[in-house]
Amino acid sequence: MAPRKLAAGNWKMNGDLAALDQLDDMAAAAEGATCDVLICPPALLIHPMMARIGASDLLVGGQDCHHADKGAHTGDIAALQLRDAGATHVILGHSERRADHGETDAMVRAKAQAAHAAGLTAIICVGETEAERDADRTLDVIATQLAGSVPDGANARNTVLAYEPVWAIGTGRTPTLDQIAQVHALMRDHLSARLSDGADVALLYGGSVKPANAAEIFAIAHVNGALVGGASLKAADFVPIITALD
Ligand code: PEP
Repeated sequence: MAPRKLAAGNWKMNGDLAALDQLDDMAAAAEGATCDVLICPPALLIHPMMARIGASDLLVGGQDCHHADKGAHTGDIAALQLRDAGATHVILGHSERRADHGETDAMVRAKAQAAHAAGLTAIICVGETEAERDADRTLDVIATQLAGSVPDGANARNTVLAYEPVWAIGTGRTPTLDQIAQVHALMRDHLSARLSDGADVALLYGGSVKPANAAEIFAIAHVNGALVGGASLKAADFVPIITALD
């Protein structure tokens, strides 16, 4: 099995009920596409999004989950609750969660285990800061994050990895194609060495992906899709990215 291509949108803390109008064209693009198409809206929008898209091929995901099944964790959401609401995926270890909420590799690994137990596909994010890249530490940082964040129970059905350089998120800046290729080769080697089906795990690039640069990024070896922030909010931006991947 080859990695399943995925165009994933991360709406972050953006969007409201009116924003669901954007889903009609995205769902139409997902229909019959050879890639999977996923939108991860704020958790409050998951239910209305499910109602809006009906039996569409568009997939719905969460942006985070707690590592516990349930309990006294005010404000948190369990992986099982995401699954119950209709989510198929959950983004974990996004750099904004690592920075804003102090999430460590060990916490991300525990959340990924909870996601797997709940039947969700974990999209585990890794990426270097600008200071780490400038210090020529990118590959070491990514290797450490992979070793710490990806649980041993990961496989090609329950896990997707996203390489998201922190300095490229929401900035309009992207690494060179060679730099993306280098990190994706490292991710593929890491997974192939650790997992029996590591060659089949989908690897995404994320960080200022837009219609103008999507095709050249998707042409890079071991890039099987994208995790898209800003350009996933509007169908006019996200649909061309889906088309470029398809
Ligand atoms: C992201 O938030 O995961 C992301 C990649 O954002 P953007 O596409 O806006 O850079």
